[in-house]
Amino acid sequence: MNVSPSRKRLHLSTAITSLDHPSIGRSQKRLWWPTLYAASPMFERPRGTNDWGPEDMAKRRFVESRFIQLAESFGFREVSTPTFESLELFTAKSGPAIVRELYAFRDQGGRDLALRPEFTASILRFYVSDLRSRPKPLKLYSTGNVFRYEEPQKGRYREFSQVNAEIIGGAPLASDGEALALGIGTMRAIGLKQVKARIGNIGILRGFLPFPPADQAVVLHSLDKRNFPMLDAELGRLGRPDLARPLRELIELSGDVSVLDKAAKILAGAGSAGFEYLQKIADLLDAYGVSRKDYAFDMGVVRGLDYYTGMVFEIDSPNLGAEKQVGGGGAYNLVEVFGGERIAQTGFALGVDRLVMAAEAEKATEPPRSLDAYVVPIGEGAQRKSIEVLTSLRAAGLAADIDLVGRGPSKNLDYANAIGTRYAVLLGEKELKAGKAALRDMASGVQREVALADLVDAIRSPPVTRGPESAKPKRRAAGTRAARARRR
Ligand code: AMP
Repeated sequence: MNVSPSRKRLHLSTAITSLDHPSIGRSQKRLWWPTLYAASPMFERPRGTNDWGPEDMAKRRFVESRFIQLAESFGFREVSTPTFESLELFTAKSGPAIVRELYAFRDQGGRDLALRPEFTASILRFYVSDLRSRPKPLKLYSTGNVFRYEEPQKGRYREFSQVNAEIIGGAPLASDGEALALGIGTMRAIGLKQVKARIGNIGILRGFLPFPPADQAVVLHSLDKRNFPMLDAELGRLGRPDLARPLRELIELSGDVSVLDKAAKILAGAGSAGFEYLQKIADLLDAYGVSRKDYAFDMGVVRGLDYYTGMVFEIDSPNLGAEKQVGGGGAYNLVEVFGGERIAQTGFALGVDRLVMAAEAEKATEPPRSLDAYVVPIGEGAQRKSIEVLTSLRAAGLAADIDLVGRGPSKNLDYANAIGTRYAVLLGEKELKAGKAALRDMASGVQREVALADLVDAIRSPPVTRGPESAKPKRRAAGTRAARARRR
């Protein structure tokens, strides 16, 4: 390919390419470097994707870290699997129709691949190939981006992030309780007050539908989508139109444990083991300290995918309206589908984008960590020593930055203010000779001399709001508006 810089086209490919560039011989092959262009947006993000700036990333890392901390405290361990997998992994799990919802492609070696639309299939593939001999249960979590070819809208993207947890090889009831406690607990750990898990049992519906698995799947799908014309048509085709009424009544039921009795009545005795199971889930969640306000039993949670076998759940942040569903999961059976043994599996995924939306709606996000110190070398002779001071601050675990532009002191203080550092450390040649620094509290504007040996302690200590000369207590400490706001 011949790309001339004068044609002003950004060539983003890192493929090895033969280039027509003044400094490169025509036949030479090397990585192309992007040319610099005017600020006009020549390229747009692909549809359904997002750029996340520093403030967004701080929020995303915040919700993700709450999940990770809680999962680790529950004994889950992190695993990582490829972002793309063989297409067959997903069609084996969800059927050929799933291809329409995937980013599927053929690579240069002719392999059919797909970007992962979720974690579960990859983790179960990993389990079957490598992790089977490990002590059970295996409790695994992952975080990262997933890809689905869907119609983008608010809170629904083509690339998005999930946090995911799987328990493989525990007893079903105990694993379901643990998964629910982690899912609901994550919402609480983020600081969300509005949490509603809806818990159902697809095993009850499967037991109630006297059809072969493929027909069951179509009926369950129509229930999941609340597509009642399709439900009626399917039940008609299967010769059981009489089931439409109880099914529709059943999926409308939602509430505390008392709905389990109502549901059992509708099914006239069918599914009793499934209802008892849900009752036991309620007892378990009590023991976990999960408030009964945080969940409801909801017979309408169907999660139409074929491989769910028993308890299924979705977690909502009711504040978010149409995007209220932040996650979902349940008990499933994939190991067998992937050629392994019959073993209990429970898992769930929460969407990071929705968790952030929920945290924003409830003002539960934490401000990002601010810079502790910004080092300002004053004069040529202070440069090297300033870097040494900076490095010692960083080595002590402080977040510290330094002037990289060569600005004068006052411009540097403006910059320090703009980036929101707590302190500026001003290092002139005279101060450095005396083994000192001028430490300026950026909120109050108070500046004092500190021995370099004491600098770390001084930065770690609570902010100084008054000059040392003011021994007498003042009615109100001097300072900037920001400092006053912080004291409030
Ligand atoms: P699922 O894997 O379909 O059960 O989805 C689990 C969670 O991932 C959902 O509750 C959402 O929070 C999130 N999610 C699913 N699809 C999308 C999407 N297209 N964009 C953003 N988040 C999504």
